[in-house]
Amino acid sequence: MNQPLLTIAVPCYNEEEVLHETAKQLTAVMNSLIEENLASEESKLLFIDDGSRDQTWAIIEELSQKNGFVTGIKLARNAGHQKALLAGLETAMGFSDCVISIDADLQDDISVIREFMIKFHEGYDIVYGVRDNRESDTFFKRVTAQGYYRFMKKMGVNLVYNHADYRLMSKRALEELSRYSEQNLFLRGVVTLIGLKTTEVYYARKERFAGISKYPLKKMLAFAFEGITSFSIAPIRWITLIGFLSFISSSIAGIYAILVKVMGHAAIGWASLIISVWFLGGLMLMSIGLIGEYIGKIYQETKQRPRYGIETDTFSNAFIQRKAVSKADTVTRVK
Ligand code: UDP
Ligand code: MG
Repeated sequence: MNQPLLTIAVPCYNEEEVLHETAKQLTAVMNSLIEENLASEESKLLFIDDGSRDQTWAIIEELSQKNGFVTGIKLARNAGHQKALLAGLETAMGFSDCVISIDADLQDDISVIREFMIKFHEGYDIVYGVRDNRESDTFFKRVTAQGYYRFMKKMGVNLVYNHADYRLMSKRALEELSRYSEQNLFLRGVVTLIGLKTTEVYYARKERFAGISKYPLKKMLAFAFEGITSFSIAPIRWITLIGFLSFISSSIAGIYAILVKVMGHAAIGWASLIISVWFLGGLMLMSIGLIGEYIGKIYQETKQRPRYGIETDTFSNAFIQRKAVSKADTVTRVK
């Protein structure tokens, strides 16, 4: 039987410091997979340049001259990690039997790629890479991340605990994924909706070996918020509940005020009045803001804009050229 064609998709945003080393290490992994008959010789590394402003694309081009595994796609502009990854997955899908996604900084242990492939051979469609500790993270990132997973679970969003975007997906799983056509894409949430045969593989996460995190706090918060509002309408329900509760309590307070008045005691103070006005005003503004967030999402979805644009794609070219060559071969042979 032919070995499965594996593509390793690596989104890169301003990663000039790490690319050489990343390509080197992933090439070594590829070679050993091929040696062990776990992956086909045609397997590829696919670097997705997410509109970097440094030498990233130049390095990808240079690497692809020297290294037969290396291919790349260059996005027309910075689309963000999730969309860049999606661009990679959808490009790779057409020519691959399975695709592994991994970050360019190799914080995720590449030695478990072998286990991913073994699971794939066992018939799994989705294999999640799950971190078994967070020691390499800062205290702050660890606490916020843990809180986030718990919170998401409460909100009814099913995430694999401690799993980022390090995973293997089969062609079948990717085809399912590409049918989720939403603009507000939160990959890790969507992948758990696909179903199919899934399993997990555990590993320890390392520190970034060079360069700085491309996820500063601001992006991290935006990402977390995106994850919630593109998956769950629980916040809107909460607001209805809070509104209902404050209506009940203000009714009770109203009855109390009337009783006090009737019994001839002193009028209720100005302070409590002003506080409740501010409290309700704030609550309402917040609620309107949150509902606006969802309406904004609807607005974006209805526009149905493309989620990313590809400027150059050497990955598909490599396969199309090869097909053309082998076709030419058969034609001459037939003659
Ligand atoms: N990344 C991207 N586009 C962006 C931001 C990040 O493609 O707009 C890539 C980045 O190059 C890396 C991955 O997403 O391969 C994860 O980023 P990073 O390692 O900086 O995040 P962290 O590990 O700190 O969460
Ligand atoms: Mg990282």
